[in-house]
Amino acid sequence: MNFDYKPLANYSLRERNTLGFDVVAEWALPITQAEQIPQAISGAKNAGLSHRTLGGGSNVVLPTQLAGLTLLMDIDFIEVLENRATKTRLRVGAGVNWHDFVRWTLGQNYRGLENLALIPGTVGAAPIQNIGAYGVEVKEYIDAVEAYDCQTKQWIRLPKKDCRFAYRHSVFKDEPNRFVIAAVIFDLPKVWQPRVSYADLTNHFANRVVNAITAPEIFEAVCAIRAKKLPDPKVIGNVGSFFQNPVISNQQLQSLKEQFPQIVSYPESATHSKLAAGWLIDQCGFKGMQMGNVGVHDKQALVLTHRGGGNAEDLLGLAGQIQKKVKEAFGVELTVEPMIYSEP
Ligand code: FAD
Ligand code: NAP
Repeated sequence: MNFDYKPLANYSLRERNTLGFDVVAEWALPITQAEQIPQAISGAKNAGLSHRTLGGGSNVVLPTQLAGLTLLMDIDFIEVLENRATKTRLRVGAGVNWHDFVRWTLGQNYRGLENLALIPGTVGAAPIQNIGAYGVEVKEYIDAVEAYDCQTKQWIRLPKKDCRFAYRHSVFKDEPNRFVIAAVIFDLPKVWQPRVSYADLTNHFANRVVNAITAPEIFEAVCAIRAKKLPDPKVIGNVGSFFQNPVISNQQLQSLKEQFPQIVSYPESATHSKLAAGWLIDQCGFKGMQMGNVGVHDKQALVLTHRGGGNAEDLLGLAGQIQKKVKEAFGVELTVEPMIYSEP
């Protein structure tokens, strides 16, 4: 396919980052078909421009001026590759809205993704941090990822085992900007069990026999719980959790428990445990705090918010203060979860 490489100059990303920052991309290029990607990348290279890929902008902190070329992933298709007695295999374009895709699967009676309802963003970004919620991670349902490797200039089909999926992590986070994901292949097994072990879901279904709960009911429950607890990015700018939950050794947890018996933790492996970062931040007195145009959400301290007029510098200033206080109080480092892009 011969594609006309005509990026748009000084393109506003105000509507394409859920923090709602006023961001102008030096150059932006909507990508609606995979075939456009190699040409876009070589076009940027020839012009001496850096490049990056943007989905829904719900896990990025963007500077006011975003230099180079920004690819806007709008590849939009859902294809049923196989529908067997044991599983359904789907191939989905990177630009498909994640929540719409989850809703579509349930409409077809394909189960498995319901706990991941209402996560903003695109299908193509889901493997990047191996999105997860309510005890489910997307890696469980990914068969492979189709991507253009900007380094080798080859199309690749990365099987799950090569994606290095881990807790909110993958090979794509290790090597940012190397791969442009065009499509994701999902396997949804026909054998299914409801997963409602997180307290909010357990409480929601308190009067029900667990095995009688249906996938659409979980989908509705997750949507209702999230709508109550998380700020809607259309109203209050945010990128969901701003920090990852720290994973520490059981030894370190033991000594923290002696000082802080109420500390919230969950087993992660035989040797390590996960701390609820929101609890640590709350204990440092940040929950509900406002600092100029940015703040900490009053229902979940892990979520930083922007109410208009602020920028990345303001938000990162607040994030730095939180990291410092948590480190002083608990000796624990908080790692920022979204991708931070800096000024040129
Ligand atoms: P973007 O923000 O556009 O991009 C994120 C990163 O992925 C960037 O580095 C970008 O370069 C890269 N990227 C995007 N698309 C591609 C592509 N096609 N190819 C290569 N690289 C690409 N996350 C969770 O894990 N669990 C949650 O429960 C959750 N809840 C959230 C709730 C709220 C209210 C918000 C605002 C965010 C939440 N998030 C959650 C974070 C976010 O929604 C996810 O990480 C989501 O997958 C990001 O998708 P996106 O399309 O917006 O990615
Ligand atoms: P929550 O249920 O109040 O739980 C607080 C924290 O404790 C979460 O971070 C969660 O870890 C952990 N946790 C709770 N119950 C657990 C269990 N049974 N086993 C293991 N860990 C447990 O959290 P919330 O803020 O309302 O969010 C609900 C879910 O949505 C969580 O899974 C959260 O990750 C996800 N979410 C993610 C984002 C994001 O941007 N990444 C934003 C909003 C919500 P985990 O985070 O590891 O699950």
